[in-house]
Amino acid sequence: MFLITQMERKNGYFYQNQGSESINSSMKKIIPIVSVLLIVFLQVAGQTNNVSNFSNGFKVIPLGVKGGLDESNLSAYLVAANGSDQFICLDAGTIYKGLELASANKLFKSANPSSIQQQQLNGYFISHAHLDHTAGLIMNSPNDNAKNLYGLASVLDVFKKNYFTWAAWANFGNEGEAPILKKYTYQNLVPNTEITIGNTGLFVTPFVLSHVKPYESTAFLVRNQNSYLLYLGDTGADRIEQSEQLAALWKAVAPLVMNNQLKAIFIEVSFDNSIPEKALFGHLTPNLLMEEMGKLNQLSNGNLKNTALYVTHIKPCDGCEVKIKSEIQKANQIGLKISYPLQATLIELK
Ligand SMILES: [Zn+2]
Ligand SMILES: [Zn+2]
Repeated sequence: MFLITQMERKNGYFYQNQGSESINSSMKKIIPIVSVLLIVFLQVAGQTNNVSNFSNGFKVIPLGVKGGLDESNLSAYLVAANGSDQFICLDAGTIYKGLELASANKLFKSANPSSIQQQQLNGYFISHAHLDHTAGLIMNSPNDNAKNLYGLASVLDVFKKNYFTWAAWANFGNEGEAPILKKYTYQNLVPNTEITIGNTGLFVTPFVLSHVKPYESTAFLVRNQNSYLLYLGDTGADRIEQSEQLAALWKAVAPLVMNNQLKAIFIEVSFDNSIPEKALFGHLTPNLLMEEMGKLNQLSNGNLKNTALYVTHIKPCDGCEVKIKSEIQKANQIGLKISYPLQATLIELK
């Protein structure tokens, strides 16, 4: 509206100088209407062009991949439709360092992490509020611009009641303790219900996970046209959690595995097999990963080997990473394609 007011003023001045009152008043009426139509047309044309240029599949840029200790490399994954440079961010443990490294790897044009964050990140999907999934978002909030913060109600409550409280950090949310700075707009996700994400061409469906009862975590099923990507936040195995959340998730995605539409699964393995089951605190081991993957493979008629599996969130300790990888290799009797995402290294899913 500011723009239009400026144009009105300018044009009014111009026509007054020509000495024609009638042209001046009719132009005053027409110009705002034409301006609004032009702006709307340009926006719609821009959006349509962008989305129609997107091709199937995804590009993923991990900003951080680990489940602890190194605060410069904690769970956060940027996802965009192929052909687009507008991302959503799944979890937000590390933001700045990940963007800096990704930019050095020529994955972004800008060398400034805050500019990339402002211009190419379209909202955060937080699986659960543990700090290894949220610290990057909180620490970088002063330099960010207005965005949506998506999560289950139980997850967003932690931001409202524990993080953006002024006592812990300035309230950048749009609810909670005054004064509210309204940079982030809380968007409650409804389990099993798909939503569309602005100009990214992406759609997201959340599924509830169990991360030490009664605490909830979330899996995000991301869709671009007919292809899908599944990202799981921290989760225990159903047997240990005495839960059926993973069973329900596998049932929902098995048809996508069978139709070759599920391009990748990002799933955690935090500990090696030596950790007792009662001391896992809602996490998976190599054996438990394969116990769950076996169920999904069975539900999808043995087709899971067509879906790329990325193991995330390894908790660092002396020799853990090597041990976990060799245990996963041994447990992988069904021949799944297993990889380990690297920070600031592009993953292309076609
Ligand atoms: Zn975690
Ligand atoms: Zn956690």
